Amino acid sequence: MAEETNPYTYEKRSAWDLFSDNQVQLAYKFCEGYKDFLNEVKTEREAIHFIKRSADKKEKKIFLNKHAGAAIVVPGSKPLNEGIFLVISHVDSPRLDLKQVPLFEDKESKLALCETHYYGGIKKFHWVTIPLALHGIVVKNDGSHVTFRLGEDAHDPVFVVADLLPHLSHEIQDTKKMSEAIKGESLDIVVGNRPLKGDDKDKIKNAILAKLHEDYGMVEEDFVSADLELVPAYIPRDIGFDKSMVGAYGQDDRSCVYASLQAILETENTGYTAIALFVDKEEIGSEGSTSAQVVTFLRSILKQLEPGVDVDTVMLRSKVISADVDAAITPNYVDAFETKNASAIGQGVVLVKFTGHGGKYSANDAPAEYVGQIRRMLNDHHIPWQTGELGKVDNGGGGTVAKYFSRLGMTVIDMGPPVLSMHSPFEVTSKLDVYSAYLTYKTFLKGII
Ligand code: MN
Ligand code: MN
Repeated sequence: MAEETNPYTYEKRSAWDLFSDNQVQLAYKFCEGYKDFLNEVKTEREAIHFIKRSADKKEKKIFLNKHAGAAIVVPGSKPLNEGIFLVISHVDSPRLDLKQVPLFEDKESKLALCETHYYGGIKKFHWVTIPLALHGIVVKNDGSHVTFRLGEDAHDPVFVVADLLPHLSHEIQDTKKMSEAIKGESLDIVVGNRPLKGDDKDKIKNAILAKLHEDYGMVEEDFVSADLELVPAYIPRDIGFDKSMVGAYGQDDRSCVYASLQAILETENTGYTAIALFVDKEEIGSEGSTSAQVVTFLRSILKQLEPGVDVDTVMLRSKVISADVDAAITPNYVDAFETKNASAIGQGVVLVKFTGHGGKYSANDAPAEYVGQIRRMLNDHHIPWQTGELGKVDNGGGGTVAKYFSRLGMTVIDMGPPVLSMHSPFEVTSKLDVYSAYLTYKTFLKGII
């Protein structure tokens, strides 16, 4: 006999209860493809390449915004000025970027190193003593490109930030505040130790330059025109005896990129036009020409789809999901969350009505009517969902791209899977939550809420 519950109370329902055994299997299977994607895609450029290839294979209409933005469009039967259904995710993740003049030799440690500048919100201690791979491109003076993806093959070298041994770190690190123990300027990666023969000045650095020239035809000035990024070199893995979770770099926000990509690839014959939009630079505040703040990309797509369209009317009538991850309740740090409203791993896609900080500053606050439509859609389709927020009131906070689209008059809500250890080099998601996010985007893009 079923346990008696009060029909008037709101009880969070676990995805494990709501999904059938068959659906759990489908979720596990979905995440095999997801792990392959995370292994192949570790930068914004690689994400856009993957999205382009996937769209071409399925003969979907795709628009590109330079190297780091894309939109896949499924035109609907209704005119655009009745509104569109849009799912937006971001392709960038926190990482270490090489500086423009990175290479130097440290006389005392006898090492060649490269200077880095971290990108996005990181806890610096996460990035020392882990294997790092070098991804990106170098544009030479003659205009030719060198593409890097070094450190992913088992035979490739990797790079590393050295750290001080515990025997000597008491005063220099251990007694300092965690945020000050490792400085951003000290995140230099080790790139070599073997000197040129002879006793010239900078013979280790010069040996590295000779090797770079031999292998890639590069000279030192080429680093000036490069997008080179250090990302964790390890592969995505199942987590737990039950293999219920995925551990990998870059799941904020590539869990939503993958889920919304699969959803739009399977979307056909809609009434309203459906778009999956992929943007860059979210982790640094959506600045720059490939970011969510640049709406000219979306405007230009709408005008290409329907010349003469009144873009403002389209936007005012459009419904948007800002597909981004949420902070999962973290063991040992439960006090950082108000647990009635916070999300937890394995409890379904997270519905975040508002983001922001303090008195809802910088928030997108989805109206009750829209939240109601989304809630009904999730319940009608038996998609596991939960509410979420970014920590206790006045305990930090954060935002997503939602506010940039709500500013245009679009109706926006945040929805994505919860993530443990967000912004670390090894983030954790639940396979059921990633699958729930995919089901959410797929149902939403049909435009029948
Ligand atoms: Mn994000
Ligand atoms: Mn983030």
